[in-house]
Amino acid sequence: MSHLLTLNAGSSTLKFGVFEPGSPDPVDRATGIVDRIGSEDGAVKLKAADGTVLADRTGITVADHHAAVDAVLTLVQESFPSAEIAAVGHRVVHGGPDLDQPQRLTREFVDQLRQYEPFAPLHQPHNLAGVIAAMDRFPKAVQVACFDTAFHRCHPWESDTYALPRAYYDKGVRRYGFHGLSYHYIAGHLAQEEPDLYAGRVVVAHLGNGASLCGMKGGKSVASTMGFSALDGLAMGTRTGQLDPGVLLYLMQQEGLSGDRIVKLLYKESGLLGLSGVSNDMRTLQASENPHAAQAVSYFATRIAREIGAMAADLGGVDALVFTAGIGENSSHTREAVCARLGFLGLSIDAVQNENRARDLSASPTGPRVLVIPTNEELVIARAAAAELIAA
Ligand code: ADP
Repeated sequence: MSHLLTLNAGSSTLKFGVFEPGSPDPVDRATGIVDRIGSEDGAVKLKAADGTVLADRTGITVADHHAAVDAVLTLVQESFPSAEIAAVGHRVVHGGPDLDQPQRLTREFVDQLRQYEPFAPLHQPHNLAGVIAAMDRFPKAVQVACFDTAFHRCHPWESDTYALPRAYYDKGVRRYGFHGLSYHYIAGHLAQEEPDLYAGRVVVAHLGNGASLCGMKGGKSVASTMGFSALDGLAMGTRTGQLDPGVLLYLMQQEGLSGDRIVKLLYKESGLLGLSGVSNDMRTLQASENPHAAQAVSYFATRIAREIGAMAADLGGVDALVFTAGIGENSSHTREAVCARLGFLGLSIDAVQNENRARDLSASPTGPRVLVIPTNEELVIARAAAAELIAA
């Protein structure tokens, strides 16, 4: 039977999902991860949709992304012997300034997407390596790319540019925005479940290890806190978020830091980890007695509230705030700390509903709604793969 495979390749992980085409939506059969690609201490895990662990192998060597895709194929074939992979959907971080929809992939098209590698050097090469590996392993399957940037391609010019000389905009130095698959999912969910909100002004807070906000009007992205790279905006697990460019000049000119050193500092050593000196993980920080952990958590919430205020200006008001992703869905503390700073927008939440992780936290019948909606980026990729399979 035809199945869909979703692949989400990071620098050292390959997350994957197995779906049946289904109607109206693909049906999730299993999700898994290949962890620590490139090391001799790799791991492969696969869990069925009902929670049954289908595979949990550790201490294995996964040399590169080709080997990771091979490991996925072997596992999928063992676990679903009758599954024929008819389409593979890939998360690709960068689609450049023009692509606003998923794209069917050929090897030539993959080569074109390489032009965006300098824009996302930590992600794009791994995403495309995953595509090539899947093409080699599933030569007959339809291959589809879903871009993290695509959802934001409708930004007004003021939200798409920096105040650099125009030549840089033309060269592609723009505010692209990321987490587009998550925002696409939330927009679709609102269209179905909350059509009035979908038509209105919504701020979505995707708060995971990576974190950003998206301002949506009529289901379309108007602004994002992430810009040219996935470093901008909110503080994250290990990334700085917004930083005065003067700090970079200081690091280069006064401290003599190399480009590679700065990349590591901004992407891997900053954010919640850098501020706390304890961890990048919100659960660990919330449980910690270390005062620096509490300060890091407080900084995180303060910046989110500040950026929601900025989004309100972009949107001309706020009809709803949606929390999603690991922290947004699970940390009542963060939701409380953010909303407590937004009373001036008429926003208030019910403490019990918040603690119980209800879907609707709104305390005021007249103020903006506050919702918790679990995101599902894999389903967005699977839907695109299913659509392309039908069109093929
Ligand atoms: P990624 O961006 O890697 O997909 P996730 O969306 O899985 O990240 O989010 C990971 C974050 O969610 C971590 O900081 C983790 O501590 C946090 N998180 C998960 N569960 C909880 C919880 N119950 N309480 C607080 N934070 C949580």
